[in-house]
Amino acid sequence: MGIFHYIRKIIGGLWSLFCYFIMFIGLIFFIVGALMVIGHVYYGIAGVILGLIIIGFGKFLLWLKKPVGAGLDYLSNLVGRKSLDDVAKELGTDPESARVEIYKGKTDGKVKARFDMQTGEVIFGEDTPKYTPAPNFVECEYCGTLYPPEAIFCPNCGAPNKRKS
Ligand SMILES: [Zn+2]
Repeated sequence: MGIFHYIRKIIGGLWSLFCYFIMFIGLIFFIVGALMVIGHVYYGIAGVILGLIIIGFGKFLLWLKKPVGAGLDYLSNLVGRKSLDDVAKELGTDPESARVEIYKGKTDGKVKARFDMQTGEVIFGEDTPKYTPAPNFVECEYCGTLYPPEAIFCPNCGAPNKRKS
């Protein structure tokens, strides 16, 4: 997974560079158009509008690149037990962001995973067990799941049990 991760990063960087280049061209059209308005009103206005369209297109391309899909693709293909640190490394983010990403993927139905209540590790490919709530159960501050008081982490979203820490 390591090499692919770096290849993806490099391609991502080149793509951003390309998007900024397009936006830069748009900016030149915009500036030249704005300057031309004095002598050649219609060419000037056309240049300004064209510039704005090109900048918008560049921004759109940049938006396409946002790692919404890439992270989810990666997470949805995982199976078995993984530490949050490892998942975070693969996603190029920190463990807390990785946990939130996994939880979001779960709520969207794109990722199947549960969290080990003792270690906080992620177990991909398994659903959160359904517990019969008892009066001493803890309600997760983050996702509202009721879970046994001895848990250190929420089995549904992996957030720490505040009563334990
Ligand atoms: Zn939770």
